[in-house]
Amino acid sequence: GLVLALAVTACGSTTKTVDKQAAQSPGAAGVLVGVTMPTKSSERWIHDGNNVKSSLEKLGYQVDLQYAENDIPTQVNQIENQITKGAKLLIVASIDGTAITTQLQQAADAKIPVIAYDRLIRNTPNVDYYATFDNYKVGVQQATSLLVGLGLKKADGSDGDAKGPFNIEVFAGSPDDNNATFFYNGAMDTLKPYIDDGTLVVKSGETDFKTVAILRWDPATAQKRMEDLITKAYSDAEVDGVLSPYDGLSIGILSALKSSGYGTADQPYPVVTGQDAEVASVKSIIADEQYATVYKDTRKLAEVTVKMADAVLKGGKPEVNNTTDYDNGVKVVPSYLLEPVVVYKDNYKQVLVDSGYYTEDQLK
Ligand code: BGC
Repeated sequence: GLVLALAVTACGSTTKTVDKQAAQSPGAAGVLVGVTMPTKSSERWIHDGNNVKSSLEKLGYQVDLQYAENDIPTQVNQIENQITKGAKLLIVASIDGTAITTQLQQAADAKIPVIAYDRLIRNTPNVDYYATFDNYKVGVQQATSLLVGLGLKKADGSDGDAKGPFNIEVFAGSPDDNNATFFYNGAMDTLKPYIDDGTLVVKSGETDFKTVAILRWDPATAQKRMEDLITKAYSDAEVDGVLSPYDGLSIGILSALKSSGYGTADQPYPVVTGQDAEVASVKSIIADEQYATVYKDTRKLAEVTVKMADAVLKGGKPEVNNTTDYDNGVKVVPSYLLEPVVVYKDNYKQVLVDSGYYTEDQLK
């Protein structure tokens, strides 16, 4: 609803009513914005879609919001439809960052600006801005939470008391998602010194991005790979840690571990990382199963993106804070990067509940 504030004029004799909420922007009325999201199978994208839609609507825009259930041809059609329907701007969280070049050319031909949402769109000049989190830092944080869980580091960044060696396995996200490489690079750069000096041992020997990547971020694929790794490399050893880049994969990985006897007093779960602070995984952290996750406030991402969209649609220049890191193969896309935050059992209340992202009840 509207937040109304009473403003008292200088002499105090009259009062005025001021609409404090984002006032409808003149010129926005009826202007259509197309928003495409990858899938509803992960909570975060549902939040993203809802937040972007409602913020745009508050400004007076009309919004066509579509989900493609991770199917590339579906997303391609949705973007084409939005262009046909007369969208004046597109906000795209792509499934495959290289698969929509033709559609974005159509958009460019029709002078429709494009904002890449969370995931960079690659191999095209026809992407104007990019709103995301610091994806390399997400990877650093994931690896750091793994080191903290193993006792090799403390949460404040100082060295921990543990010595190792520890057996770990490494997972990465979908190879067609540009973010997956950033997460992987951030994480592997952080783990490398420990792997090089033998403190961390990847028993399977599988560390190459292509080998450890999980197509479309599919939890069942991650579960299967974890089962295979246990069979292959852990007949007489234990898994101490798993670098997982996304909560959905972490759930699959924990299931595989559970089937192999982990999760008991004698054989506790290894340290398993994550990303997105999805409800099921936060509950799992509270229950001492998953160790940590990386929280990315999708409310803030939506806010930044909608500000960008509004500025572009009014012929202005949106605010960006990074013009170096996100080269999409054709150009460096001006970007706005937000800060991710690591969530452990001992700070989830402060980070997730006090900020109003979740209620305590949702996490019970
Ligand atoms: C997002 C992550 C998410 C992953 C799987 C990535 O592009 O940045 O937040 O975990 O996709 O949906």
